[in-house]
Amino acid sequence: MPDTSQYCERFKLPNWWVICEECGGRFSRYQRSKVVKQPEKYSCGDCGGALRVEEAADE
Ligand SMILES: [Zn+2]
Repeated sequence: MPDTSQYCERFKLPNWWVICEECGGRFSRYQRSKVVKQPEKYSCGDCGGALRVEEAADE
């Protein structure tokens, strides 16, 4: 019998998306962390590109 508990936990919707302007990578954030407040102070872990933040729809 497959263990789906971990899958279900990951399926929660994030509150924030941190998006790389260069490679388009999207990193989910579940709370208002430092990178969400000040994305300009951080860069993409993959390509070093600039980041921007989008608030995920929460309806
Ligand atoms: Zn990137």
